[in-house]
Amino acid sequence: MTFSIPFDNSYARMPARFYTRIDPKPVAAPRLIRFNRALAADLGITPGDDDEMARAFSGNAVPEGAEPLAQAYAGHQFGGFSPQLGDGRANLLGEAVANGKRFDIQLKGSGPTPYSRMGDGRAWLGPVLREYVLSEAMHALGIPTSRALAAVTTGEPVWREQGALPGAVLTRVAASHIRVGTFQFFAARRDVEGLKALYDYTVARHYPDASDAADLLQAVVERQARLVAQWMAVGFIHGVMNTDNTTLSGETIDYGPCAFMDSYHPDTVYSSIDAHGRYAYSSQPDVIVWNMAQLATALVPLMPDAEVAVERFTRIVHAMPALIREEWLTLFRRKIGLGTAQDGDEALIGDLLTRMAENRADFTNTFRALATGGPARDQFLNPAAFDEWETAWRTRLKAEEDPQARMRAANPAFIPRNHRVEQMIAAAVEGDFAPFNRLLEVLSNPYDDQPDAADLARPPAPSEVVKQTFCGT
Ligand code: AMP
Ligand code: MG
Repeated sequence: MTFSIPFDNSYARMPARFYTRIDPKPVAAPRLIRFNRALAADLGITPGDDDEMARAFSGNAVPEGAEPLAQAYAGHQFGGFSPQLGDGRANLLGEAVANGKRFDIQLKGSGPTPYSRMGDGRAWLGPVLREYVLSEAMHALGIPTSRALAAVTTGEPVWREQGALPGAVLTRVAASHIRVGTFQFFAARRDVEGLKALYDYTVARHYPDASDAADLLQAVVERQARLVAQWMAVGFIHGVMNTDNTTLSGETIDYGPCAFMDSYHPDTVYSSIDAHGRYAYSSQPDVIVWNMAQLATALVPLMPDAEVAVERFTRIVHAMPALIREEWLTLFRRKIGLGTAQDGDEALIGDLLTRMAENRADFTNTFRALATGGPARDQFLNPAAFDEWETAWRTRLKAEEDPQARMRAANPAFIPRNHRVEQMIAAAVEGDFAPFNRLLEVLSNPYDDQPDAADLARPPAPSEVVKQTFCGT
């Protein structure tokens, strides 16, 4: 059987101003690090031999049926609007259609494009493996996300602050790469025809039931509300919630300086470029509402009456915080074993989180210990702070049936801990991919107890703590 991807490209049929057709730039010596066979099967891909796939997933050989292009978009970056962004280091090869589903297949780190601005269009091995592990972990946690299909090294150095680093390319799969910033791109140019074409495309691809732009907005708001609540429930901090990194599909996308928290604190920020904590853990629900307001603004020209549009859109966006709160509460109820709703639940959860923050409790391990009956109190600097809460919690639990099973399904034992990710990258740079492969194996079943992987569940020792994460640029 020969290597093949069932391409059926629709974005390449959009008007020319939506993208620039450009082939990936070949690299010196592509070598396959990993290929995601399970995902490939879902996508209807027939695998080839390693060399063939290394050539395809580095961009050295454009696979049959691909029509590579770089997408144009705009976006608010840290609140400031850039009317012209776009894939500066990515090529959309096309869309694979299988089992009635359509997925973008995109190379990331595959060379400069007209949207590269000052960048080199490349990625080094660290961010490529980071995105591979984090996006696959996110998927295994049950959270909508782009996926990783393949990673290759290029055999070429990439120059970054640290010096020369091994270059790599990630093949990313997503329901689509349509961003809030894609709508902003056309709205900023008052290109209503382009906006309409993008709207029709998005509705057909993601929201076939939407009958107007208000419907589309409502549907995206619902998916994003749920997504951000899910991030909160696993302690995930995206790190760069710019509107160009917010999808219409409701999938997590653009893993840059993102991170999962170790010890819990609502103000946690890891990203080196987020100096003011705009995208701190606890700010994410506010930021996504702001991003949806930007989407709403871009959608106004699609409605026949601007005044009516603004009135309807405002109502939808204003209702979003309550929607997030509801999703959040459902998820956090589950995390403490509650399947029913009572009035005091939110206060009970809030009380636990306050005590965790004050006592630097490990987010993942505290909740997991509730599920397994482990010593949750040991996670707290002052264990008595937990004991007081536990009394109230045990009383509330009496109204619940099998809370343990509910908590086991809601509270992962394993997350991609920053220090393990950094150690994995350091090993890979030295040519040892065993930690990368092991992380992927363990994180593919995050809700299972895996006694052999206890080391991956441990929080970092003081000397291992990662204080900052960096984007791949
Ligand atoms: P991000 O912060 O990853 O969302 O990227 C923001 C913008 O910068 C996007 O338009 C990227 O395509 C572009 N960009 C990031 N890194 C590079 C790079 N190494 N070369 C060219 N463009 C880049
Ligand atoms: Mg981005």
